[in-house]
Amino acid sequence: MSDRPVVTRIAPSPTGSMHIGTARTALFNWLYAKHTGGKFLLRIEDTDRERSTDAAVQVIFDGLDWLGLKPDAEPVFQFARADRHRAVVEEMLARGGAYRCYMTPDELEIEREAARAEGRVIRSPWRDRGAGNYDEGQPYVVRLKSPLEGETVIADQVKGQVTFQNKTLDDLILLRSDGSPTYNLAVVVDDHDMGITHVIRGDDHLNNAARQTLIYQAMDWEVPVWAHLPLIHGPDGTKLSKRHGAQAVSEFDDMGYLPEAMRNYLAKLGWGHGDDEIFSDAQAISWFDVKDVVGAPARLDWDKLNHLNNHYIRQAEPARLAKLVVGVHKSRDFPLHDGDDVIIERTVPLVRDGAKTMLELADATVFALKRRPLELPEKAKGLLTDETRGRLLRLRAHLDGQATWEVPTLEAALRGFAEAEGVGMGKFGPALRGVLSGGSPAPDLAGALVSLGKPESLGRLDDALSQPA
Ligand code: GLU
Repeated sequence: MSDRPVVTRIAPSPTGSMHIGTARTALFNWLYAKHTGGKFLLRIEDTDRERSTDAAVQVIFDGLDWLGLKPDAEPVFQFARADRHRAVVEEMLARGGAYRCYMTPDELEIEREAARAEGRVIRSPWRDRGAGNYDEGQPYVVRLKSPLEGETVIADQVKGQVTFQNKTLDDLILLRSDGSPTYNLAVVVDDHDMGITHVIRGDDHLNNAARQTLIYQAMDWEVPVWAHLPLIHGPDGTKLSKRHGAQAVSEFDDMGYLPEAMRNYLAKLGWGHGDDEIFSDAQAISWFDVKDVVGAPARLDWDKLNHLNNHYIRQAEPARLAKLVVGVHKSRDFPLHDGDDVIIERTVPLVRDGAKTMLELADATVFALKRRPLELPEKAKGLLTDETRGRLLRLRAHLDGQATWEVPTLEAALRGFAEAEGVGMGKFGPALRGVLSGGSPAPDLAGALVSLGKPESLGRLDDALSQPA
């Protein structure tokens, strides 16, 4: 290995969604690049023209953006580089590392049958046939002249040493008969041209690593360091699928997970630092080494993700959370009014401790956003006896006299009021709660009062007390 500066990449194919496995691959590439002071690049493998719509490409940009994994350069688009891929094949032909194969579909079928019967890979008679031994204009593919003997060893950073017998690798096609470059060729040329030093990707590409190594060798290019990551499995240990719930990055966003929680969580899927459950980006960057990734599949664990998300919700700036909560309400067509963002921002710190997701946090703000007069639940109505009404009226006056409207002073005011009345909080607390919340989940009384603010709190009391018993 040379000491080239580290350059990593992710190379997703646009499919219309960004899989959580791709997100984890992106994160590991990003962490490794940051850890080594290198660069993290993005290549869009958009050679499937039907699937690679602008919208599908945008999903990848949005996914990375949301995850906070910013590539260090403009993205490279693979399809646009087809001329360069063809030029490399020309060079390989000139070097004798590739050859034109004019086998017809029928001949290929016969060879395939023979190869199967003899338990070997297919071989083209054109490999050793000189040029000119064909009809001008006959279609051909270009194949790599792979070594027939020996072995190709992938010294994988995660999987260890993986050995492929060269006799099991056929002469792979580099250019199809229509002149289009094949997948493995395009990947190698692009990775080479982008200066990629470390290919960190899913282990479904491990077999490709052997073939790609042969292409590098045919061009005398430096082979990158390989690191093939195990799949992410569902909680039950089987391959992640729809029945395990979310698989796409956007779904985790929609379910109310914060990107920093996802980064922390994804980092723990196959990698870790001792028993540390919660760590910052800076810590992950300083600790991460792709060599420490474990080779066994990682299991998705919703409880852990929820725990982390709750942690990050409790840490986040209320203004930021408020914006996200507004987004959740809008996505649910919940009617919002001018000034609700202020109420939400004030409410968020008072209700977030129990919230596992932004959806739960949004639910917890609903009580504060209700419009007067509130519809009181039957239970609250039942609590409003004449005695309690009289007490709440006196409480209203007591609250109105409060100079500051903060949790500690309001807690003290409520306690002082109960003492002065010679009753426990249980005598008026539940009724007050119903009046303030309209029966929706709400924080404790002082918290609810602060969320609502003084005018709204007193207004809700007035509404309830002016309703006939
Ligand atoms: N385009 C490939 C995929 O989406 C990734 C290829 C690679 O990372 O080398 O799985």
